[in-house]
Amino acid sequence: MSEEKEYEGGCFCSAVRFKVKGPAMVSQICHCSICRRLQGSSLGLAISFFGADKFEVTEGKEELSEHLSPQKYSRMFCRKCGTRVFLSFEKCEREIPMVALYPTLLDSVAHSSIPEELAPSRHIYYADRLYDFHDGKPKFADMPAEFGGSGKQLDDKGNPVT
Ligand SMILES: [Zn+2]
Ligand SMILES: [Zn+2]
Repeated sequence: MSEEKEYEGGCFCSAVRFKVKGPAMVSQICHCSICRRLQGSSLGLAISFFGADKFEVTEGKEELSEHLSPQKYSRMFCRKCGTRVFLSFEKCEREIPMVALYPTLLDSVAHSSIPEELAPSRHIYYADRLYDFHDGKPKFADMPAEFGGSGKQLDDKGNPVT
């Protein structure tokens, strides 16, 4: 059991600020084409999941705009600078009391590295990646089975693991 750590972070222009208490439920790198296009990223996107009760927008709630995905994920972004700040699942059919955050938005990570307790433990949607990652971490073709995916795993080069 790791101790609770509090992190602060915000969008690029600092209009929106938040606090979140760790540890994260899970941290992973997503390689799906949706994250890639939304973020303008050619690499994977690190995402950490926290209980919704551990997360609080402390400044700039009124600057947040919502983009609702077809699955009713609320993608919350700063309307001043466009940063995607977090993802909420409260409008989903089966409400999930979690938020997804990008550890790169934490103040402590902005100019250094992701703390060990938030370091991604696996890759998801690795089949959709543009570049290979040789980090030896588990790589799921889509999602782990317990998250509704196929649970199929790939090696660093994208070959099926049997
Ligand atoms: Zn902003
Ligand atoms: Zn994604």
